[in-house]
Amino acid sequence: MAGHAVGPGSGSVCLRVALDIPLATLFDYLPPPDVEPTAIAPGTRVLVPFGHGRRVGLVLGVETATDRHPDRLRAVLAVLDLQPLLAPSDIELIRWAADYYRHPLGEALFGALPARLRRPEPLLDPRPRGWRLTPAGQAQDPKGLRQAPRQAAVLARLRLGEAAPPDLTGDLGDCSGALRALAAKGWVEPCLVDPTPAPVIPAAGLELNPEQAEALARVRATSGFRAFLLDGVTGSGKTEVYLRLIQDVLAAGRQALVLVPEIGLTPQLERRIQARLGAPMAVLHSGLGERERELAWRAAASGAAALVLGTRSAVFAPLPRLGLVVVDEEHDLSFKQQDGFRYSARDLAVRRAQRAGCPVILGSATPSLETLHSAQRGRYTWLHLTGRAGGAQPPRLDVIDIRAQPLDGGLSRVLVRDLGAEITAGNQVLLFLNRRGFAPILTCHDCGWVGGCPHCDARLTLHLTRRRLACHHCGWVRAIPEVCPDCAKDDLRALGQGTERLEEEVARLFPGVPMARIDRDSTRGGRLARLLEGARRGDFPILIGTQMLAKGHHLPGVTLVGILDLDQGLYGADYRAPERMAQLIVQVAGRAGRAERPGRVVLQTRHPDHPLLAALRSGGYAAFAEGALAERRAALLPPFSHQALLRAEGRTPQDAADLLARAAVLARDIGLTGLALWGPVPAPMERRAWRYRAQLLIQSERRAELQTFLATWVPRMRSLKVPAGARWSLDVDPQEML
Ligand code: ADP
Ligand code: ZN
Ligand code: ZN
Repeated sequence: MAGHAVGPGSGSVCLRVALDIPLATLFDYLPPPDVEPTAIAPGTRVLVPFGHGRRVGLVLGVETATDRHPDRLRAVLAVLDLQPLLAPSDIELIRWAADYYRHPLGEALFGALPARLRRPEPLLDPRPRGWRLTPAGQAQDPKGLRQAPRQAAVLARLRLGEAAPPDLTGDLGDCSGALRALAAKGWVEPCLVDPTPAPVIPAAGLELNPEQAEALARVRATSGFRAFLLDGVTGSGKTEVYLRLIQDVLAAGRQALVLVPEIGLTPQLERRIQARLGAPMAVLHSGLGERERELAWRAAASGAAALVLGTRSAVFAPLPRLGLVVVDEEHDLSFKQQDGFRYSARDLAVRRAQRAGCPVILGSATPSLETLHSAQRGRYTWLHLTGRAGGAQPPRLDVIDIRAQPLDGGLSRVLVRDLGAEITAGNQVLLFLNRRGFAPILTCHDCGWVGGCPHCDARLTLHLTRRRLACHHCGWVRAIPEVCPDCAKDDLRALGQGTERLEEEVARLFPGVPMARIDRDSTRGGRLARLLEGARRGDFPILIGTQMLAKGHHLPGVTLVGILDLDQGLYGADYRAPERMAQLIVQVAGRAGRAERPGRVVLQTRHPDHPLLAALRSGGYAAFAEGALAERRAALLPPFSHQALLRAEGRTPQDAADLLARAAVLARDIGLTGLALWGPVPAPMERRAWRYRAQLLIQSERRAELQTFLATWVPRMRSLKVPAGARWSLDVDPQEML
């Protein structure tokens, strides 16, 4: 790039600014007339003119040369922050990620900011809104308010000092009416309250068992960056190890980052950390309001929060004194962002720890094959917790061959018998079926009509309780037809089974036994917590659930888990399907039982002799993983190679295929040494939400080679002409081939 010197005078400079737009370009602006450019630190927000409008930009640095003609440079309109929102190390991490995943830097940076701060909003005052007495109010005697006891109580309370709603509502009840009345009299006024943090006395930790102590010692013995795989079954005490390490880090005055798949599902963890550490923590997840989110994010950035507990996007939380990173349930798919900026928070967590020079702990009962492979090669230190912390036995896995067996509501006779025995004995049983709705197919027995989605290559799922057919891919719904839409005969039948139908059949098999169904349909509107509490209390001898139940909940009363129909995992189109299946089985199994009552897991299958299933039964997840890794190695699939998936979609199959064909030509022009290119091929579900989708897979045995190629290819692709209604996106290290 030749570049132009910015101005005639020496020392003239411009500001390089990132904008929240889907372009890989950065923009140069002159500093505002009255501001010294070097006073605007990188990470500061500015308001800039852009086209005919104005936008928020993030300053990345000061430049002395620009590609634009200096006369055409426009000036920053306003500097929005007194201090930078992001530190140089935060910016560098995001820059690294944007480079690696080939995503526009501006979007990546703004995506890391709380939504409020992507707009030209001033920072919120972190103090809670409360009330205080006005001078007129101070002159009042609460005794003069005999007629209005609540107003008198509020007045008396505020004489002790300004107060925010928690204090004002605590023992006084709802004060809003009284406050309104007092404000109308001019005796109280709103204000911001300086919080006095409630002192927290950290609870004492448990005495560690030898394996936990060993794991702890190994991490403590390393200084600087090191990645650890904490490989331990559910209930083996991984969290206890995290807590000790966090305590160390906090005692040293540094901060910890703990990433979990879904916070809504694990509120216990938040309480457990809070109770143990007694240190200010910030929680970051998608369920927060904008205000809460900004305050939590800034508490992390200022260092006021010693610990950040968050989901995927918290990997970008600014943490000036980062000393430890923990990724719990590291195998979980939700760490991978599946649209837009498709990053893996788990992989970035490792990168982040490396940059910060601190340890990172990846914990799981069912580690991803990628992580296991790194541990086997010694890149990660492999720590094992083999027993359940309290000494409970791991559950036993039995297989029922259902080929040619009569099934009653999808349940084999053996399973029905065993379920009955457990229920009679006063135990709890869990039936796992990873398909919600009543049935996956509605068909006409006469002509063979099948209810399909008009927008997707997908069947419509029958939902009887909500009385409709729904597409689980695009959300389209229609009423259930009374007769066949094709032949008008009255012989429509539901084929296959979802949790709704299972619930109905089980109710018929075990009449009068209380039952809870836990899936996405039955837990709308915050009912999940209530159902789970009831389940743990033992209100429901029978539990039916989808993979929602496989995450984070301990169900100690469950002695028998029946897993129905996971066979598609053994022969799925996606080479990762068996890995996901094994993880699901082991995770579901891990929820069951406790010390004196170990759980038994029964798997119904049509492929009892499948080698991966056999390995899982005889040697648990470790044996399964060994077999699965051997298959991956033989097929040169990840982690033995590295992939990027280019997806395209268009209004016609041709649009998508053409776009990818031209991308493939570009790729061949660059040269494909060391790379393999597959496709373009139609996506496994070609039509989805009226879009035709195709994909092109690029694979290399060496990550660096793939990265070098992408660095040339992607910028060239950005200049490809894209037909109207079509678009493409790149997924580096794809986790799903959808
Ligand atoms: P994980 O995170 O591996 O699922 P947890 O740390 O949650 O396991 O531990 C499971 C249960 O065992 C918890 O109830 C925990 O309090 C208990 N526990 C963990 N470590 C110990 C220990 N050293 N001694 C006694 N109980 C323990
Ligand atoms: Zn018909
Ligand atoms: Zn659809």
